[in-house]
Parts: sequence; C-alpha cells; structure tokens
Amino acid sequence: MEGTLPNCVAPALLDSDRRVAADVDCFQCGYNLRTLPATGVCPECASAVAGSLRGPELHWASPKWLRGVVSGINYLLLTYLLLFLAVAFLMLADGDTMGGMLGGLAGFGALMLAVFGVALLTAPDRLAPSDRQLDGWRQAARWGSAAACILLLATIVLVAVLQPRRVSLPISIPFAGFVLFGLVVSPLAVFRYLGLLVRRAQEKLLARLANGLALALLILGVFSLLHVLLVVFGSVLVLPPLGVLRAIVVCLSVVGYLACGLLGLHVLLRSLEVFTQAKSASEERAGLSNH
Ligand SMILES: [Zn+2]
Repeated sequence: MEGTLPNCVAPALLDSDRRVAADVDCFQCGYNLRTLPATGVCPECASAVAGSLRGPELHWASPKWLRGVVSGINYLLLTYLLLFLAVAFLMLADGDTMGGMLGGLAGFGALMLAVFGVALLTAPDRLAPSDRQLDGWRQAARWGSAAACILLLATIVLVAVLQPRRVSLPISIPFAGFVLFGLVVSPLAVFRYLGLLVRRAQEKLLARLANGLALALLILGVFSLLHVLLVVFGSVLVLPPLGVLRAIVVCLSVVGYLACGLLGLHVLLRSLEVFTQAKSASEERAGLSNH
C-alpha cells in the first residue's frame, strides 16, 4: 500500500507505523485524523486519509476554498469593467447630469463589487496550517476594504446632510480615512496576500509581480493620502504656494495608477489561471477520494 501515499506527504506527519502523528484535519469534513493509518479512510466521510496529509502547495487546498478564491478574482475583474464604464461615462458626460449620474452609479457599483470580491478572495482556509504572515495580510485586506466602504458611505451621508459649500473637517476626516483604507491599506494587503498564495503554486515570477505591484500601490496611495490631507489642512496651516508641484504630483499619480491598473489586470488574469488549475486538481482528488 506504500505506493498509494502521495510523495509530498510531510514525513513529520507520520509515526514509524505510518499512522498520522499530528493534529491533521480531514480536508473534506475537518475530522481529526490523528492515530489513523495513512493508507486508511476518514471514519466520518470516507475520504482517503492520504488526501489530507497534504503539502503546502495550492492544489492541496480544499476545493470549496479554492472555488471561493476563483469567484473573488472574477468579481475583482468585473470591478475593472465597471471602473472603465464609470470613467467613460464621466468623461463623456461633460456637465450632463444623466452622464454624471451613470458614471457615479458605475463607480459605486465598482466599489461594492471590489469589497465583495475581496471578501471572497480573503475567506480563511480553515483546513490549512496556520501561517501568521499570510493571515496578517489576509485580515488587513479583508477589513481594510470593508472599512474603506463604510467610510465612503459615511462621507456621502455627511455631504448629503451638511451640504457644505467648501472643504470642511467633519467631511474631510471620514474621506481621508476612506483614502487611507481604500487606496493605501487594502490594495497593498490584497496584492501581498495574493503574492503569498501564488508562491504556494510555485509561481515565483507572478508572486514577485504581485509584490512589486503592492509596493507601487502603497507609494501611490501614500501620495494620494498626502494630497487629501494637504487639501484638508491647507486652509488651516499657512503653506507655501504648491500649485506647480501639486500639478506634477497629480499627473504622476494618474500615470502611475494607469500603469498599476494594467499590471493589476495582468496579475489578476494570471492568478485566475493558477487558482483555476489548482481548483480542478483539488476537485479531481476530492472526487476520487469519495469513491
Ligand atoms: Zn472526513
């Protein structure tokens, strides 16, 4: 029966009798498989024990979790489409109320889709061994995007209620918070997390691209945040005239975000491929071990 054991089973998981010597959960039902023979089946769901003695590679993850990650990436790709529509509407609107409203609606839809996509992408893999670094980025991505969404809604409500004539502190503070979580924390964490995950599929180049993108988005996000803070506190503090410098920073940010957008699209499409492959492999194994 030795030949039936997958060769990526970590030897530390088994004792000298080839029984499970660690707290390993069944990858189908979560039952603790300690003391069971490695060649046996789970007493709860009859999945092969060997299927749960898995290596760190992505294709060993549970099919359910992988399906969630794949849909999360699909929602993030749909976000791109809506963002594109929003920009197109706003550019074509040219002062026209209808076009402006459609643009705003598409932009709001893009934000909702992004939050939903990130929530699916960052669902915890409960059966995987704990990894503090991975979990830290996962939580930051998950809660960062939710916080951004809440702060933007708060800003919109405050604008509707207060109807201010100029930039004022009660509105600027939640808006600055939205920029902090939506443009700094969340993009950095999402792509750092994705980079760590694709590394588990031996996709080193893709992981490096995702990490580079995370860093570029962090720099752009910090510039955006500084810009917002400058506008907020510009009226309070006495600042030297920064007109030309600000115009340069805004231009560089737009070019930077366009470049990051294209790179992000590439990283998401490649990740979709990687996770779809892992999902198929995992589903196939789950199917086999159920017979
Ligand atoms: Zn089981």
